Amino acid sequence: MIEPQRREAGRADAGSSARPAPVPAARGPAGELPSIPPQPRRPARAARPSREQDASTEQDAPDAAPTARPPVPRRRPSPAQPARPGAHHTHRVENQPPPLAGFDPLACDPALTDAVAREGAKEALPDLGLLAALVASPEAREHARLAETHPPVLHTHDRYGHRVDEVEFHPSWHWLLRTSVGWGLHGTPWTAGPGTGAHVARAAGFYLMGQLESGHGCPVSMTYAAVPALRHDPALAAVYEPGLLSTSYEFGLAEPSTKAGLLAGMSMTEKQGGSDVRAGTTQAEPTADGTFRLVGHKWFTSAPMNDLFLTLAQAPGGLTCFVLPRVLPDGTRNAIGLQRLKDKLGNRSNASAEIEYTGATGWRLGDEGRGVATIIEMVSMTRLDCVLGSAALIRAALTEAAHHVAHRSAFGSRLADAPLMQAVLGDLALESEAATALALRLAGAVDREERALLRLALPASKYLVCKRAPVAVAEALECLGGNGYVEESGLPRLYREAPLNSIWEGSGNVTALDVLRAVNREPDSVDAVLAEVDSVAGQDNWFDRGVRELRTELRGREERRARRLAEMLALCLQGSLLLRYAPDEVASAFVSSRFLPDGPWRTSGTLPAETHTKALLTRITPT
Ligand SMILES: Cc1cc2nc3c(=O)[nH]c(=O)nc-3n(C[C@H](O)[C@H](O)[C@H](O)COP(=O)(O)OP(=O)(O)OC[C@H]3O[C@@H](n4cnc5c(N)ncnc54)[C@H](O)[C@@H]3O)c2cc1C
Repeated sequence: MIEPQRREAGRADAGSSARPAPVPAARGPAGELPSIPPQPRRPARAARPSREQDASTEQDAPDAAPTARPPVPRRRPSPAQPARPGAHHTHRVENQPPPLAGFDPLACDPALTDAVAREGAKEALPDLGLLAALVASPEAREHARLAETHPPVLHTHDRYGHRVDEVEFHPSWHWLLRTSVGWGLHGTPWTAGPGTGAHVARAAGFYLMGQLESGHGCPVSMTYAAVPALRHDPALAAVYEPGLLSTSYEFGLAEPSTKAGLLAGMSMTEKQGGSDVRAGTTQAEPTADGTFRLVGHKWFTSAPMNDLFLTLAQAPGGLTCFVLPRVLPDGTRNAIGLQRLKDKLGNRSNASAEIEYTGATGWRLGDEGRGVATIIEMVSMTRLDCVLGSAALIRAALTEAAHHVAHRSAFGSRLADAPLMQAVLGDLALESEAATALALRLAGAVDREERALLRLALPASKYLVCKRAPVAVAEALECLGGNGYVEESGLPRLYREAPLNSIWEGSGNVTALDVLRAVNREPDSVDAVLAEVDSVAGQDNWFDRGVRELRTELRGREERRARRLAEMLALCLQGSLLLRYAPDEVASAFVSSRFLPDGPWRTSGTLPAETHTKALLTRITPT
């Protein structure tokens, strides 16, 4: 946890104090990253104002009592000269926390470090420590702020009217991507063999960067996820893998083989259906040279400046996966037009485009008619990053909340000492620890190629952890009171981002239905999860109760209960991990609070089976 700097308790309206006020970080003009000096400390305000200050204060204050002193001409600071610190009694900055910078998001997170070591990447901890120091630096935090404050801009045409289809990003976006790519968070684990811990180390790095900024994680994640899908075709993999695994970041339109590094995207969702990708209407016609000509649209394609996209289109043999580079081998541009960028709730540093294929050239990836089976390899890996990304958001929000309450007082005592605040933060900490442990367990399963476990544990975890993130972030935001609702706190950015992981790569219901599908069709995946869960059977009554409920849901397999099934699976996995590896007090608090039959934490859609849903709906149906 962040080391609280103890302060004397004092109310916001407490009397004068000689304590120096924190100085806000410098802000530069748009497009320019200011270098942030170490936080200077202002000289302590004099206990007694000078004569001049006295006079100024008296004249500024309409209700000030008259004094016997002769009037002093009113002197206001010119606009070019800001008021001297301490010149106005109305503007004392007290009881505000110092900026959160320079903390260690790795050392402060034993749930993470323990999981990294446990899942086989202990040797990576020193390197992760370096990344953590970077993530916590004021410079990095400023890049994160700037990348969101200056969202990407689409240029469809040049000044002469030629189509250019380019997206302009703020330099801080490029800084973030260069950093993540440089640390190999986009693909390098694929060069290591199974069981080396490479995916775990990468997951921990992605989790750390996710605490800094989420938007740029989208192309990083899609590039990571594209590799296993690309390997369906060794010839295509040979063309693109070297660039995708390179740790060089090279932005710009160029033929892929000439670039130092490549990024990949995913293009499935169409206007008429995102979950139901089989409803896609984009057509792919075979051509004489073995490639396909694609005509159609995609309603969402994020990071459209990436170098290649895995796309679904209807070929003569059915829905098929294709690889479309932005620049063709002959150096000409592929026929991919960018129509609009989405104006999104969050994820604002990242561009998400509506695109059109107007005769674009694609290479078939995987068998014709097996498009979903091919691209699902990519979707699985991005789902892992949804879990990691949501765990990172929960952790980042919790960090901000813990920092704030450690430095803020109300009613004469530090908020961090208030029993009710401790209860709130304790609950958030449980949520964070459970999310982090589960996310890293999944990364370990990828590393060790535990396919059966991943088939069920991945969608179930994606369902629960992504659903919990908005709730946890909102609660953490509230720990900062009104300050948390203000942009400068950074919490609104986390809050806007929080629902997204639950929407893409399978929205809540669709993910829960995927869990049900796995339970129905792949019994070995159920066995793998139950083996994990049963390894702690008999250790805790609450947990055993939860596992009994899970088994009931597993037997029931009702579509309308799919959410409860998904969350019970993920909860039991979390409980099992915490019972095995977390301190006793963490584990027992988790199982005793999360396995209550009517626990207040329940997610939407998990009402008891006997609930009369129709009766509830009639009360909200507009007449
Ligand atoms: C910021 C952002 C970036 C994105 N980037 C990309 C991208 O790069 N590439 C890409 O291909 N897509 C992208 N998407 C699209 C995203 O993957 C889809 O929005 C998502 O899969 C849901 O599809 P949809 O919007 O068509 O919703 P729909 O499929 O219409 O679903 C609407 C709701 O109905 C629910 N639902 C669907 N079927 C059922 C059912 N049978 N029973 C019960 N409930 C059901 C869903 O869970 C959802 O809540 C992006 C989306 C966003 C918001």
